[in-house]
Amino acid sequence: MAGMGQMMASGQPNILLIVADDLGYAEIGVQGCKDIPTPNIDSIARNGVRFTSGYVSCPVCSPTRAGLMTGRYQQRFGHEFNPGPAREASDSFGLPLSEETLADRMKRLGYRTGLVGKWHLGYKPEYLPTKRGFDEFFGFPGGAHDYMGPDRRDGNPIMRGDEAVEEKEYLTDAFAREAVNFVGRGGNKPFFLYLAFNAVHNPLQATSKYKDRLAAISDDKRRTYGAMMLAMDDAIGGVVAKLRQTGAEDNTLIFFISDNGGPTPQTTSKNTPLRGFKGQVWEGGIRVPFLVQWKKRLPAGRVDDRPVIGLDVYPTAVAAAGGKLPTNLDGVDLTPFASGANKTSPHDVLYWRFGAQSAIRKGDWKLARAADGQVHLSNLATDIGESSNLAASDAGKLKELETAYDAWNRQMIEPKWRVQDRAGKRKAKA
Ligand code: CA
Repeated sequence: MAGMGQMMASGQPNILLIVADDLGYAEIGVQGCKDIPTPNIDSIARNGVRFTSGYVSCPVCSPTRAGLMTGRYQQRFGHEFNPGPAREASDSFGLPLSEETLADRMKRLGYRTGLVGKWHLGYKPEYLPTKRGFDEFFGFPGGAHDYMGPDRRDGNPIMRGDEAVEEKEYLTDAFAREAVNFVGRGGNKPFFLYLAFNAVHNPLQATSKYKDRLAAISDDKRRTYGAMMLAMDDAIGGVVAKLRQTGAEDNTLIFFISDNGGPTPQTTSKNTPLRGFKGQVWEGGIRVPFLVQWKKRLPAGRVDDRPVIGLDVYPTAVAAAGGKLPTNLDGVDLTPFASGANKTSPHDVLYWRFGAQSAIRKGDWKLARAADGQVHLSNLATDIGESSNLAASDAGKLKELETAYDAWNRQMIEPKWRVQDRAGKRKAKA
């Protein structure tokens, strides 16, 4: 194929960014899940690198995605909170147009770009995916969607490009179909596909096709959640199989992450052994499954405990494509770390701010300020569950982390909209 020849000549890999929604740290087989099989997600870890200290830049959906799409702490441009549904969203809501998205950048690097799934970075026409660097879009603009039938929320249709369309299939199956088609269309350019499932976000809805495979789970809530996982895992298996069929798997850089931790009380998605849930800056809200596969460049089955973050996706993808990295990024190119060649730490320090909540991780030390004002210092090397508060006994470390946080925080701006900033207090409200 002429197209394939050009791709190999340039050497640019395809980029497949898979994001699960509200998937907790403990809910894949390679991280200990026993009752729900996830062979296809696990295969990404077996064929690549599993970062066990993989973070995202916010404990809820939209801000994390703003960080993913820009490689920058989203508080630099005021994208600190979720917008709420379309009718409640602030007039100012949307990933600021001043930011170049990863899709914009990949397009400039010669890529065919597509988003299949959830957007959540703007409802107004100028903020929709087709205006933010995506050649193709199949999905919905909001933060959640019913899996069967039309959505109960206003202003949140399934769209193809800029048009609302009717979808008859179970939504995760529809996203699988569209992602496989996108990969299979090939052509003479490498692709960037952002496959953003709304699984396993509320509402808990699944078809008997998947529920029947989990007859051993007696609790209906857990079984429905598990069926949603199976649908997503099957979908990922289908996309990877298509890559394999077309000879593209070796030179495709695949990321698999979740956008925040599990809201365990709402959906059962667990964050064990981490403390806390979605909406909180405890590890359970921000530390997520984080897998990277790139057979051509990365070893198989490596496990890496160095802290990394969703902000690293952008520079990793751009560097892999041969692009020059902008100097204003907070993320780093993970390839030299994932390969094992670079033995240093990708990040000396990581930061989080989500309204009244904040956190900083420096080395093994973490300082968290919870929604109730509690200041908690822990050493994650010996206390991954953040159970012992060392703030009173290690005043020196407390001061060091507070000072570092304050210096970072001064660089951030005020939120451009304030909705759901009580999320932490409301625990894990979806
Ligand atoms: Ca989410």
